Amino acid sequence: MDLKELYRDVILDHNKKPRNFGALAPPARHATGHNPLCGDRLEVYVQLQDDRIEDLRFEGAGCAISVASASLMTEAVKGKTLAQAQQLFEAIHHLLTDQAAPTPEFLGKLAALSGVREFPARVKCASLCWHTLNSALAAPAPIAVSTE
Ligand code: ZN
Repeated sequence: MDLKELYRDVILDHNKKPRNFGALAPPARHATGHNPLCGDRLEVYVQLQDDRIEDLRFEGAGCAISVASASLMTEAVKGKTLAQAQQLFEAIHHLLTDQAAPTPEFLGKLAALSGVREFPARVKCASLCWHTLNSALAAPAPIAVSTE
């Protein structure tokens, strides 16, 4: 099996069985992302503990690349600090937009997204979840509603 087939299998697997799928209740932060070029729509939920991403979930619907990318992102970012998440975001952005970019070791399974850069129209599908995560992190923490 060559690397291309391996990467394709990772994408197919995460599309079929998305990891960390579902919502998180407030006080988790939340943002909606929409890619009108393809019709992908994602909700990203993030629970911060100081500067660490304690929990991260997503839901929504879209093409295989958008769903697989979000699933891979949740696995990669969960438990990381904000600085580490930002480093991953920058590395992914570089990987998706620069044909010649090497694949850093620390990307792990996220390296499977490198195949997407051969299809520039799909880059926005793969990066949607990351932009949505950034929006969620920038959102003010919601007030938890209590009926007590
Ligand atoms: Zn898409």
